[in-house]
Amino acid sequence: MTKRIALVAHDHKKTELLAWIEKHLSVMQQCDIVATGTTGQRIIEQTGLDVLRLKSGPLGGDQQIGAKIAEGELDALFFFWDPLNPAPHDPDVKALLRLCSVWNVPVACTSATADLMVTSPLFLSQDFKPQKPDY
Ligand code: PGA
Repeated sequence: MTKRIALVAHDHKKTELLAWIEKHLSVMQQCDIVATGTTGQRIIEQTGLDVLRLKSGPLGGDQQIGAKIAEGELDALFFFWDPLNPAPHDPDVKALLRLCSVWNVPVACTSATADLMVTSPLFLSQDFKPQKPDY
């Protein structure tokens, strides 16, 4: 099954995420991608990737991604959040990261971690199915 991933970057991190995507374009082309609104728009414009755009993060996009995680509809999250600037939707950011831990969904918040994640032989492997917690 195709890996289903979410891509999100805060404004000061969008350039970094776009460069990261270009670097890993062949892997990204093998994934089903959802993204928050502005991030998704930038990805489409710059890379031509097929992206399902949700609402912008501050308008509920992070929560939409969180809902997909709770429903088991995403295999990984790449979330380049900004540690140096306050976000109006900080509670949504925390909630999204929390749900990744609740449901044991791999999440990368920096380009270094994201590099390690997508270059792992497990990333595209059909055999890698993280254990879902039994609550
Ligand atoms: P954006 O949202 O892609 O619409 O900018 C990202 C975020 O702030 O979570």
